[in-house]
Amino acid sequence: MNEYDTLKLEKILEQDYQSVPCPENADLVLINTCSVREKPEQKLYSLLGELSDLKKAKPDLKIGVCGCVAQQEGERIIKRSKAVDIVFGTHNLSLVPSLLKQRELGAPPQVAVNYREDWEDLPLGFSETDKVSVFVSISRGCNKNCTYCIVPTTRGKEVSRSLDEIEREVKIAVFRGAKEVTLLGQTVNSYGKDFTPRQSFASLLERLSKIDGLERIRFTSPHPQEVKEDFIDLVTNNPKVCKHIHMPLQSGSDRILKLMNRNYRKKRYLEIIHGLKEKVPDISITTDIIVGFPGETESDYQETLEVMREVEFDNSYSFMFSPRPGTKAAEMKEEISQKEKLSRLQNLQSLQFEITKKRLDSWVGKRGEVLVEGVSPYQNDDKDTVYYGRLSQNITVNFLGSEVKTGSILDVDITGASKFTLKGAVCI
Ligand code: SF4
Repeated sequence: MNEYDTLKLEKILEQDYQSVPCPENADLVLINTCSVREKPEQKLYSLLGELSDLKKAKPDLKIGVCGCVAQQEGERIIKRSKAVDIVFGTHNLSLVPSLLKQRELGAPPQVAVNYREDWEDLPLGFSETDKVSVFVSISRGCNKNCTYCIVPTTRGKEVSRSLDEIEREVKIAVFRGAKEVTLLGQTVNSYGKDFTPRQSFASLLERLSKIDGLERIRFTSPHPQEVKEDFIDLVTNNPKVCKHIHMPLQSGSDRILKLMNRNYRKKRYLEIIHGLKEKVPDISITTDIIVGFPGETESDYQETLEVMREVEFDNSYSFMFSPRPGTKAAEMKEEISQKEKLSRLQNLQSLQFEITKKRLDSWVGKRGEVLVEGVSPYQNDDKDTVYYGRLSQNITVNFLGSEVKTGSILDVDITGASKFTLKGAVCI
């Protein structure tokens, strides 16, 4: 989501600015912050410390802070760092040019962190023109209130973007060479619930899949509670929808899921996964997991490992619980020591490495369709050109070929597997 917002900011500012590789060469530095992980404020202020030294040497340098920390902290950022010129929140991207203008005209540091009820009017498309795969936001905010999560505060209530606008943005990206789109939303599959009359995620997928030249559609992340009866057919029958689902599990214990206010249980989660696997045996499933949530016992933790073994996730993003100020979970009593949490995380990640290895090894000797993204920075010992791209299952393949066109979809014979990627050669 932040990557998407950053691309939008580049687009908004493209008349006056262009990207440069490092802050030393910049006239404007925007720090797009995320507060999902630990210590985002410390990281922000330490970066601002470095930038204020740069500003002393370059007094015309403008510095802005945006994203979730900006949304939460607002005015406090200006008070703590004299180097900052503008602070703007997650609903105020379009205001950047005017905030900068006011600052240039001598106004004091500017802050814009108001929430909006509607979808902010942002320019369509991106300033980059040569991307094979693009992100497109389809909704903003979240109505779920998981007890550990700060997103409903920093991104506000869920607001869906108009179907026409999404379609236009995807068409522009395709016109400029994109072949794949990843639809973004905190709970992407609840798209359209806030419209009157209601619209469905299914109708959005159906409409986008009719766009000529768009070869692949991905989305992240579906919420298990929002998975409707048609979901499995939807993702398995539409040939443009990729064979990869990233569906957060968070915990394999019903007791912990309840404490997290995740409104599904292990049985339902597994039902969805088995339904998907039954229809598409080579589907790739990835997930998010939190270990050491307040009150998580050894047996709760073991249940999470059991689900991992049963599902055989292709990969998982796992984190130790860390309290986010302002969330319910931050007030829950923590009974698990940091050492124990770390040990649980390490064990879980070792298990995931084993499973990932097994899943990747199972590809060796098979053939897969790869969407080519470019020349790989990793070349082999014989100095052949190595290209890279991804399977529909979202697995990266580094492969040998000659005169391979970026954006093409090729059959690649898989010849080997490394820790996270596959190796192959174009099938001739
Ligand atoms: S569904 Fe996702 S974004 Fe929404 S509150 Fe829960 S974890 Fe946060």
